[in-house]
Amino acid sequence: MNFVGSFPTADFQLPARIPEIAFVGRSNVGKSSLINAVTGSRGLARVSKTPGKTRACNVFDVDGRWYLVDLPGYGFARVPHREREAFHHLLESYLTSRQSLAGVVWVLDIRRDLSPDDRALADRLYQNRTPILVAIAQADKLPQGQRVRRTTAILGALQLPRNQSVVASARTGEGVDDLRDSIEALAQDRP
Ligand code: GDP
Repeated sequence: MNFVGSFPTADFQLPARIPEIAFVGRSNVGKSSLINAVTGSRGLARVSKTPGKTRACNVFDVDGRWYLVDLPGYGFARVPHREREAFHHLLESYLTSRQSLAGVVWVLDIRRDLSPDDRALADRLYQNRTPILVAIAQADKLPQGQRVRRTTAILGALQLPRNQSVVASARTGEGVDDLRDSIEALAQDRP
């Protein structure tokens, strides 16, 4: 697994013709932790948090089989309006223009309802018919009974079936193998 590059616009060229899987989610949702857990490489997604790279598409090569594209986290309240616009433009152009995009892993916090930004993203993904896998993250923060209730609420709000979701925790490793398998399947399903 290797860091390929950090790209400020969505029109970047990658060396291999393999599927891209993009990770999206609001800031602080646990996206980096989950990427590290899924790829088994601690510190990999830390690249995405270095200055100058937090607003870019950060691309990693996963065993020569697929590219993991870490997109910037959205919805951070203290980000200036202009930066938000730039982010929306990047996300928009990434989601509409990438020929090799096989699907999106959308990381959501098990404890939170959808924000307006989440809903806007959902609309965009449905419009583009982008295959979605929802990673319901930080599951360890809730007891088992509440997890089921929260998962049902989140999937209900998104109108997505349970088989397009994985409940996971980067902290305990729960659901991480399942998430990895689901991503591999998504990468292979590519039309
Ligand atoms: P990102 O901004 O979406 O990339 O989020 P990070 O991966 O940096 O995580 C944000 C915060 O949530 C950090 O303080 C992490 O330690 C914490 N965190 C991430 N994943 C988990 C998890 O599965 N369980 C718990 N308890 N905390 C987590």
